[in-house]
Amino acid sequence: MKKKSFFYKKAGKLIVIGPTKKEIEKILQALLLIKKTDKKEYWNAQSRMKIIFISNMSGFTNEFFMPEKIWFANKSVIGKNDLPWLASLIIHEGFHATQFKKGKYILPLGNKIELPALRVQKIFLEKIDGADKKKEIESTFKEKYWSKMACDKKSFSYFRHLLDLLENKKINLIKA
Ligand SMILES: [Zn+2]
Repeated sequence: MKKKSFFYKKAGKLIVIGPTKKEIEKILQALLLIKKTDKKEYWNAQSRMKIIFISNMSGFTNEFFMPEKIWFANKSVIGKNDLPWLASLIIHEGFHATQFKKGKYILPLGNKIELPALRVQKIFLEKIDGADKKKEIESTFKEKYWSKMACDKKSFSYFRHLLDLLENKKINLIKA
């Protein structure tokens, strides 16, 4: 069977993997925006995430894997969102890493997990947009992500599949 091919590029300690160089470049720009806006959040992202893996599937589903510290996102998450939102999403997802212990969530699932991550995401977006420009992060997040992800079982199993391939070195990684 032919190996699946993806591009990759290093960004600090982080490895960004994607179906084309375009998605990888956009993630690098989002990381740069984080670095420019909030150095501490940049180093947080660097230590909380190991790999950002953009799949070759459309759609808005994304999932953070622990203890692997890999964030999987379908390519529309990258292509169809603006840089500030994308940057804030990286911070949000990375924050989930702090809510784990021994590979398990230390809080019950649902709002208890999401609200603190949304708060961190909101603080970051306010740094870009100014605190006066009230962003309804919670509702945007619901509308942009949860509703679109809820019935997307295909992507979740595909992410799992890609993770297996990656761990077994069955993905052909080409330097971008
Ligand atoms: Zn979340």
